[in-house]
Amino acid sequence: MYYYSFIILILFGLYIHINENKNSIEDFNRFDTLKFDLIVISISSLFVLFILDLLLNEIFIKFVHSIFSFGEIINSWPAWLRLLIALIIGDFGYYLVHRFLHLPIMWNSHKFHHSTINIYWFSGLRTSFLNSLIIRIPYLIGFQMLEINNENIAIAGILLLSINFWIHANLNFKYDKFLSYIFITPKFHRIHHVNDQKVSGSNFGNIFSIWDHLFKTAIISYEWHKSKKGEFVSWKKLPRRIIGF
Ligand SMILES: [Zn+2]
Ligand SMILES: [Zn+2]
Repeated sequence: MYYYSFIILILFGLYIHINENKNSIEDFNRFDTLKFDLIVISISSLFVLFILDLLLNEIFIKFVHSIFSFGEIINSWPAWLRLLIALIIGDFGYYLVHRFLHLPIMWNSHKFHHSTINIYWFSGLRTSFLNSLIIRIPYLIGFQMLEINNENIAIAGILLLSINFWIHANLNFKYDKFLSYIFITPKFHRIHHVNDQKVSGSNFGNIFSIWDHLFKTAIISYEWHKSKKGEFVSWKKLPRRIIGF
């Protein structure tokens, strides 16, 4: 099942890549930044995976499980229902944590993600180590609360990766506005990346936009999609950006 999900992820990435060519929100050449993105994302992903493996080890997971688990009653519920509830809980936590990362005290750990100038499906993987660590914790708590086994956690991880491709896609999707009342869509998330302060404090969600609508941080607009995003990151500043301090 895990391998099938992985193949679906690659096909999904390819599908978005091809469709970005045909039906894009903004016009730019993805290959202008692809080299930088590939190097930077490979380094940060390896670093993140290595450190996360050390930090999110069995002892830590057991500790989280002992605090948050709903216990035996949950086991009789179907796996798909538990996974769905875990993702909803995790996603609410993500929303809160993402807002926290936008506070001045935390901004250095998050600004690497906001440095992308041309946003397309692959570019959303640009995150610092600290950002990756902090933002995973709410989902981790959700999975431990609902007794999700390791195989299903891996599948959920691939789903979250697909969502990252989706929300950063430079894709003019026909039902974007309609979907953005419940889910995060490419145009909805694009506004979150705009540098202008009028909109930069909006659209914090990852899977569901309901949290943004509920807490009045949602902006659905077509005026901002082509506005300036990101900032140039020099090679000198890169090590600090990758770690996130
Ligand atoms: Zn952000
Ligand atoms: Zn983003």
